[in-house]
Parts: sequence; structure tokens; C-alpha cells
Amino acid sequence: MNLRRVSKRIQIGNVSIGGNAPIVVQSMTKTDTRDVMSTINQIKELEDYGCELVRVAVPDTEAAQAIQAIKRGISIPIIADIHFDYRLALMALEAGTDGLRLNPGNISQPEKVKVIAQAARERSVPIRIGVNAGSLPKAANPNLTIAEQMVDAALQQIKLLESLDFDLIKVSLKAFDVPTTIEAYQDIAQRIPYPLHIGITEAGTPKSGIIRSTVGISTLLYLGIGDTIRVSLTAHPREEVIAGYEILKSLNLRQHGPILVSCPSCGRAEVDIVKLAEAVEGELIKIDKPIKVAVMGCVVNGPGEAKDADIGIACGKGKAVLFKKGKKIRTIEEKDFVVALMAEVEKF
Ligand code: SF4
Repeated sequence: MNLRRVSKRIQIGNVSIGGNAPIVVQSMTKTDTRDVMSTINQIKELEDYGCELVRVAVPDTEAAQAIQAIKRGISIPIIADIHFDYRLALMALEAGTDGLRLNPGNISQPEKVKVIAQAARERSVPIRIGVNAGSLPKAANPNLTIAEQMVDAALQQIKLLESLDFDLIKVSLKAFDVPTTIEAYQDIAQRIPYPLHIGITEAGTPKSGIIRSTVGISTLLYLGIGDTIRVSLTAHPREEVIAGYEILKSLNLRQHGPILVSCPSCGRAEVDIVKLAEAVEGELIKIDKPIKVAVMGCVVNGPGEAKDADIGIACGKGKAVLFKKGKKIRTIEEKDFVVALMAEVEKF
């Protein structure tokens, strides 16, 4: 795995981004931002799952003003997502937003960006230049590839902000196409010092979207690129947070709650491993400590195959061996599989 690219560190609310700060898991609400209670409730649920930064859509004045009340009910920093109307960015800043996301594809006029940058600088609020392949600036050069056009759009906006003495910048270059996204990030990572928010846009429903996002995000992280991540899914945003942490855990970049090791099952298994693993997964969600738990289908290979697990079970007919670090500790009855395993996990 490549060494992580060292980016300029910025602060969004109480969350550090870039430098050697941990890679941050971000999501976006799917409620109507004007519905303050629903938005607070959704953000609080995301906080419970470990979401560290949340973006909200700001389509109008009422949504911009709602940020003030939403902030009173939540603990994580909020980022206002602004398109088209620069005045909404000013209102969101007035309402206390911790970060702004601007799309250079629809807010690029220097005089408008200047007003936003001035107001953001007064409050030390960072701006994410959020380039999206689907909404590139009209002036984009059609002779360039999409990845090049995305980089170009970001560089132009960065140049403008820098000329206004504004450097609290984060950049994202998202496309649905994974190779395009990777190329764009690889290119810009060498050209700017700012932290990068990475993700694959409009990735789809969890079934395909988690895979598409994982391929894109993991490739970039493996290359050392990325300071915040979002898995964009057509699903409840809690799924985005869960998937985000699974990616970071898979690359050993963050520890966050348990890791479940479960065998794929085969003709040797004498219990329904799929059902059992799902039941254990449902219980593990309540645990917030890092622990590796294994659910294995047979006593022949189970403990050995999962020997680096902290706690596990290897099932036989009607019974299972409970093991700790690959060593058998006792035998349990089928009816007690989940309860006994979880009791051992709690003890651990
Ligand atoms: Fe098959 Fe046993 Fe391996 Fe599970 S642990 S895949 S049941 S051999």
C-alpha cells in the first residue's frame, strides 16, 4: 500500500481533515432540510453509527436558515451543499454551517465566489470544491477527457479562491465511472496541497453501489489518496456510514467496532451458516469496541481458518466449539450458539 499523500490539514468544526488526521467517514442526509426534527433525528442516528461529518442539501432560504436549529440538536459538524445561488451559501454561513460545498459547474462567477470566500474566511469555514462529472462548467474544454475536464474545473476554482487569499479548501472530483474518477484524483493529487474528499457519485443501490464505491474508494486509498470518504448509496444514509467503515477497516486504516469473519459454508457444514452469521452480525452492531469474531461452518477447519479471530465458533452437528484466538475453550449446544458467543464477546 502506498504511503498516504500528505495534504494540508484543515478543520471543519471539531473534525481535523488531512495531514495525518484519521480518514473521516462522511454521509449526507436524505430528509428535507427544512424539516428540522426529521433532519436532526437522521443525523443523530448517523452519529450513532460513527458518521463524523454530515452534508445537508440547501435548495432554498428556509433550508439555509434551518441549519441554525439543526446544529443545536446534533454533535457532528454540518456541511451546507450549495448549488446555483451563492446567496444560499451566505445564509448557511450566517446560520452557522461548519463547511460549504460549492459546485464550480454552477457557481463559478468570480464576483459571487469572492463574496462567499470573504464570508467563509471571516468564520474560518472551509469550502469543498465539489466537481461532479455530470455538472461540469459550461466552458469546459470538450477536447479534454472527462477526468481532465474535472481536474481543470477544480484547478480554476482553486486558483480563484487562492487569488482571494482563501486556502481552507477541500476538493472532490466525483464521477459514476470508476476509472474516470481514479484518473482525476490521481492527477489532482499531484498538483495541489489540499485534502481530498473521495467517492463515486450516484453509485446506485447497496447491491451494486457498495461494490462500485468500494472499488473506486479502495483503489484511491490504496494509492494513498483520500482524506474523507463518502459511499453514496440509494439507501438510508446509515448504510453509507457502515460501508465507509468497512472499507477503512478492510484496508487497516481505521478501527471501528467489530470485524466479522464468517466462512462461505460448503458441503461440510452441518448448520445454516448464512442464518447464523446474519444473527451474529445483528448482535455485533451493538458493540462499539474493535474485536474480531468468527463464525465457521465446521470443527475440522473452522478454528484453524479463523485463528486470528479473538472469539469464534466452529459448528458441528447440533453443537459448536467456542474458540478464542484459535484455541478451543468449550463446546456449546446449537440453541445457545448466538447467546454463548455474544457472552464471550462481551467478556473479551
Ligand atoms: Fe466449509 Fe468448514 Fe471451511 Fe466453512 S470452515 S467453508 S464449512 S471447510
